[in-house]
Amino acid sequence: MSETSQVVTRIAPSPTGDMHIGTARTALFSWLYARGRGGKFLLRIEDTDRARSTPEATQGILDGMHWLGLDYDGDVVSQFERADRHAEVAREMLAAGKAYKCFATQEEIEAFREQARANKESTLYRSPWRDADPATHPDAPYVIRVKAPREGATVVKDQVQGDVTFRNDQLDDMILLRSDGTPTYMLAVVVDDHDMGVTHVIRGDDHLANAARQMTIYEAMGWPLPVYAHIPLIFGPDGKKMSKRHGATGVAEYQAMGYPAAGMRNYLARLGWSHGDDEFFSDAQAMEWFDLSGINKAPARFDTKKLENICGQHMAVMADDEIMSEIDGYLAAAGEPALEDGQKSRLKATLTYVKGASKTYPQLIEKSRFALVSRPFDMDEKAQKQVNSVSNGILEELTPHLQSASWEHDALEEAVGCVMAAREIGFGKVAAPLRSALAGRAVTPSVLDMMLVLGRDETLARLADFKAACEDK
Ligand code: GLU
Repeated sequence: MSETSQVVTRIAPSPTGDMHIGTARTALFSWLYARGRGGKFLLRIEDTDRARSTPEATQGILDGMHWLGLDYDGDVVSQFERADRHAEVAREMLAAGKAYKCFATQEEIEAFREQARANKESTLYRSPWRDADPATHPDAPYVIRVKAPREGATVVKDQVQGDVTFRNDQLDDMILLRSDGTPTYMLAVVVDDHDMGVTHVIRGDDHLANAARQMTIYEAMGWPLPVYAHIPLIFGPDGKKMSKRHGATGVAEYQAMGYPAAGMRNYLARLGWSHGDDEFFSDAQAMEWFDLSGINKAPARFDTKKLENICGQHMAVMADDEIMSEIDGYLAAAGEPALEDGQKSRLKATLTYVKGASKTYPQLIEKSRFALVSRPFDMDEKAQKQVNSVSNGILEELTPHLQSASWEHDALEEAVGCVMAAREIGFGKVAAPLRSALAGRAVTPSVLDMMLVLGRDETLARLADFKAACEDK
């Protein structure tokens, strides 16, 4: 691919609240598209609306991108900081006769609309200044409006929606520069996308009508149009636009719920895009497969069960170091205390045994709880039921076998087998008191795995604690 045809995509969120999962999905699609083609993926913060933009929301976007591993090229672009450049383009359009100064006051515009309503005509504002001779311009505040075409139609050639036609008599002469000299959002988006060399605009289909209006600016400036792909919004299970009513909508909330980022990426990629029947895939596969033609035209419905299943599959194959570093991020996001070094190494030792059966980090930590607790620990109600003389007898019989066994899976299994044979009891009868003794819980990972993680000394110490509890009873 030549330098000039390099793909450049971007995500352009407005920092006005929590980063929505819809924004994360748009970012992911744009990232996959660029990364799969040796292109660039850029981040622009659309902070032109000073009243609604907050630094916290910008930070939330940066954190969300970081968590999801969506790395962008170059520096973050602040739209607000480019206001002078936007104004310069508006003036260029003015000089070229593609835009005009409009001196209409709010009252005049309102009066125009009222009259139009009374006449049952379109209320689209038609400024009398569009073709006015500059010699007649008053010395008064003005806005700069684009001279939008009035005849014919504007066709947005969209990679997802197909050709979407907008009648030009429905387009207004939108404002480019306000009377205080600040640019409008419509102008800023186009100038920034052009200056940043954006070749593909992938964004929510709530911007489809904006595309038709933005094309007017591209055409007026003689700039090449980007390829457009307007993707359907994410719906909740009830088929309505995903909102807080359906549950969590913020990216940070998903991190705080403990979903692994790789699973989240995989699930979000599948949310509105497909590659055959593939449900579970790696980033490398997604980058190779992702194409605009695979984006569905119908809105996708968010399904927490599917998300969890995919997360579980990723957790099972993730590298232990990656899991450990994500757990740090999860605990911080969830407002939980960080793990101490000792806990970290014990938790890490459990991963081989628990990661295949966990879908989220809180589930994984719960399964690893036996390794994180220090003696003496409390038993839950079900585990307490094992505190009796029969259980004590079983574990007393097991103890010498454990004292002499070599500490590996088969030998430990054999030790348990000796007690089963001697007492003519099943595995479960030995495992139940062992779970209580080792974990203080009735539901735990495999007893053999727990013993392997805990090691001989800790295992025997926990059995001794259990014996003392039985004798105290
Ligand atoms: N700032 C817009 C938004 O957050 C996105 C604009 C665009 O992608 O062109 O919805």
